[in-house]
Amino acid sequence: MKYDIVIVGASTAGSYFARRMSEKGFSVLMIDKSTKERISPDYDIFHMGKDEMEHFGLPKVEKGDGIYAFEFTESYMYSAFGGYPKPSPAPVVGMHKHDYIVRMNEWAEETGVQIVYEASFIECLYDENGKICGVTYEKNGEKTSVECRLAVDCSGIPAVVRCSLPDGYGIEKFELTPDDILYVTLRYVDFTDKKEEWMKSYFWIAYKSWVAPSKGSDAIIGMGSCFGFEYVEKVYEQFTRNVKLPAHKVKRVEKGRTPYHRAPYSFVADGFICMGDAACMTKPNCGEGCTAALVLEDIAIDIASKAMENGNYPTRESLWSINKKYNDTQGKEFASLMALLASIVRHSPKANEFLFKHDVIFSKKILAGMSGGLSLDITDYLKTLVFVVIGLVSGNIKISEIKSILAGVINSGKLTELYEKFPETPDGFDEWVKEAEELWKKAGRLADWRPLG
Ligand SMILES: Cc1cc2nc3c(=O)[nH]c(=O)nc-3n(C[C@H](O)[C@H](O)[C@H](O)COP(=O)(O)OP(=O)(O)OC[C@H]3O[C@@H](n4cnc5c(N)ncnc54)[C@H](O)[C@@H]3O)c2cc1C
Repeated sequence: MKYDIVIVGASTAGSYFARRMSEKGFSVLMIDKSTKERISPDYDIFHMGKDEMEHFGLPKVEKGDGIYAFEFTESYMYSAFGGYPKPSPAPVVGMHKHDYIVRMNEWAEETGVQIVYEASFIECLYDENGKICGVTYEKNGEKTSVECRLAVDCSGIPAVVRCSLPDGYGIEKFELTPDDILYVTLRYVDFTDKKEEWMKSYFWIAYKSWVAPSKGSDAIIGMGSCFGFEYVEKVYEQFTRNVKLPAHKVKRVEKGRTPYHRAPYSFVADGFICMGDAACMTKPNCGEGCTAALVLEDIAIDIASKAMENGNYPTRESLWSINKKYNDTQGKEFASLMALLASIVRHSPKANEFLFKHDVIFSKKILAGMSGGLSLDITDYLKTLVFVVIGLVSGNIKISEIKSILAGVINSGKLTELYEKFPETPDGFDEWVKEAEELWKKAGRLADWRPLG
């Protein structure tokens, strides 16, 4: 069997790329290890920005279709002790995830994409020059090999294709450890005292915790943390001690994992692209990845379809500008925000309260800018300086906390500059990587700070 493209993983990242490339006339096979009935089973309710759904032309949902759950616009970020709300309004659609993935699979099939479920990726096939020329998978104990010009890894956190490539193929093969993952717990709750329709989202950055709308329960209390689910429970205890939530009863709990690691330095190699969670493409401010992945995918669709015109093989060189275009846009924003957040969250609930109160660091302007388009002027810097000094003198902030915030701002700026200088061609990539490695070492990771032991 022969296809132009084989995609491993049929969730959001895989389905979107499959549909768009098949619309361009390429033959596409998408495989997934799950059955159609069990695809994406980890958690029920997920969100997408309404504007993002429209921008990417994703399948629409509506009330009563069994997929649509709710919509809300009001979102607020709160201080460590539950005060000083900072609004960041944006229309959000809540949906049942499994049902939406099935809808996306069928949307891909409409244009001729073939999907094989219960098919686990085994390995890539390589031609006499060592370049990818196909994929082998196993279904019901039987191995099948298919030829292709492009293999795409959309397998999520395990990144099964990326991690299987031979050393020296031009792709990083890192696997995620518990330090590079946010373990997310969702408690579906009913309020006990007062029945109210919870149609807004509250977020407490100090604990990476939120309360958001639900379907089938009054609300969802969510929390994400590195290190594992046991650690999430420790932070949850601290959160519920410091923040007074409405009295509630937990109806059920769901757990899942989302990557929290910088993206690979290159997404492409000969006959290969990785995307979605397999490329650690989640929003640094909230860990959401469904639409973040599509930014890279739109770039990849444009460049890969040109590289594959007239039966051409998509070489690393011909796909390279995917890296460049991505790093000129979302790539540099995510890198700088990830470095900033890794440092600016390293402080006590007391310092967090002070910063929220005086609208510095966690100011309305900065928090709104975290979803894109952040630009600070001299007044912002002066105000921050004044309140940092007041915070130190009044004992609300420690010098080590200030140092960490400052380092975050500096490293985040340096990473933006470096990502803007990402090489136009593979020449110069090795030198660029050396600089990037140094900077990421300085910037550190979210997991370098473990306040609760
Ligand atoms: C609790 C929780 C809540 C979240 N909420 C949101 C949200 O509201 N909005 C949002 O945008 N993001 C959210 N995220 C993040 C989001 O779930 C992911 O970023 C997104 O699902 C990634 O999509 P993907 O297609 O890259 O990978 P995945 O959804 O992980 O899909 C990977 C697919 O690959 C298949 N696969 C894996 N290994 C193999 C193999 N060996 N062979 C064949 N197939 C294989 C899997 O079966 C799976 O179907 C949340 C995450 C968690 C944990």
